Amino acid sequence: MFHKILVANRGEIAVRIIRACRDLGIQTVAIYSKADRDSMHVRLADEAICIGEAPSSESYLNIPSIISAAEIADVEAIHPGYGFLAENAHFAEICESCQIKFIGPKPESVRLAGDKALARETMKKAKVAVIPGSKTVIKDQHEALRVAKKLGYPVIIKAKMGGGGKGMKIAHNDGKLLNAFLTAQAEAEAAFGNRDVYMERYLNEPRHIEVQVLADGYGNVIQLGSRDCSVQRRHQKLIEEAPVPSLSKSLRKKLGEAAVRAAKAFQYENVGTIEFLVDEDDRFYFIEMNTRLQVEHGVTELITGIDLVKEQLRIASGEKLGYNQDGVKFAGAAIECRINAEDPDRDFMPNAGKIEWLSLPGGPNVRVDTHVYPGYVIPPYYDSLLAKVLVHGKDRASAIHIMLRALREMEIRPVKTTISLHERILNRPKFRQGKVSTNFIQSVLVPPGPDQIAMQQAG
Ligand code: ADP
Repeated sequence: MFHKILVANRGEIAVRIIRACRDLGIQTVAIYSKADRDSMHVRLADEAICIGEAPSSESYLNIPSIISAAEIADVEAIHPGYGFLAENAHFAEICESCQIKFIGPKPESVRLAGDKALARETMKKAKVAVIPGSKTVIKDQHEALRVAKKLGYPVIIKAKMGGGGKGMKIAHNDGKLLNAFLTAQAEAEAAFGNRDVYMERYLNEPRHIEVQVLADGYGNVIQLGSRDCSVQRRHQKLIEEAPVPSLSKSLRKKLGEAAVRAAKAFQYENVGTIEFLVDEDDRFYFIEMNTRLQVEHGVTELITGIDLVKEQLRIASGEKLGYNQDGVKFAGAAIECRINAEDPDRDFMPNAGKIEWLSLPGGPNVRVDTHVYPGYVIPPYYDSLLAKVLVHGKDRASAIHIMLRALREMEIRPVKTTISLHERILNRPKFRQGKVSTNFIQSVLVPPGPDQIAMQQAG
């Protein structure tokens, strides 16, 4: 096992990784930007090195600064967390060439999965279904029209190097397609420095279901069950849960098997996630592989009892998986709510500023992963995730009750957050039934009509 590693991230995930290291007796080095001087990960790590100015491009994405910090601190490995450089094959390669272990898969796997058009081809060869779409990158508007005609509307244009919902545009007819194609290209260029896009049929009411995989360096690949991440806004996840509710035993099995096949096709090592969309007829299609730890990894940890960050560290240090597929046991149900510094009543406008008052939930079966504390000033430069509230119940119904209790206890002032929106979602009959699609959030955000208000007033 490693003796000392560098955590190349910030926020709640840096804290999460430092905690896992401490449990394993590993020394940690935090890096931080000037805007994060007072951040919790800086306080908790054994050492901390300032690597640059507030903008990510000058700090958390600055490869030379991070490698210099790793060399000065003399670490054996770098944990990239999620976001920033976590899925950057070039960074993984540079770590390797500097004899610093990148805690994640090999650069080739990152590259293969990161090119979504190539990943689709890889999946077809591995007999994992992909959404009907263009064979590869779409060159021009004429080709876009031809492919859309063949697929049938609606279609979605996606960035080849995409991520975080950027560079995705939906078109319902020829007229809208040309504009969608050009905007997707422009967005892709701005976000990823690459304007290549491809096209898929747009599924109407899909569920986003993903499978956690675990692979060591000795060819052992297993899966740790699935998560439902259908509660999304603008293709960004808000609530995740495990196991997936209302999923037949046979579909659960097929998804698990397809995920293992997919991970093997990517020659995968370490923890990763295979994302699928499942349509109304329970047909499932691969959409992408995330070659890193997911934000929502905690729900899988709660139902399996397996610490995924510790597994990442063990695998990267060369250990074999300590169990096989039959050794994975599932217990109860877990839910995660992402508490973002956004105002749901004002189109989710991000909220920066000082947290004057903070009261975090506690009690049995509640876990809060966060980097914030009373007096913490939220910098405006990074993502808006403030905390993840995770709960574990004996079944889904009890997990929902525990989450509602936790959300009720939670107070963050004066910053606007998504807490009340989560309460609304959890109280919706459709959510309670456990079969919501990725469009579900629309029905929660629509302001109540006069009839509903009258009914509410009547009691
Ligand atoms: P990103 O990597 O940018 O997050 P994904 O390919 O993982 O993009 O898709 C993110 C979300 O976008 C999905 O969870 C789903 O809600 C929506 N989406 C993507 N592809 C399709 C599709 N073909 N049909 C319907 N929704 C889609």
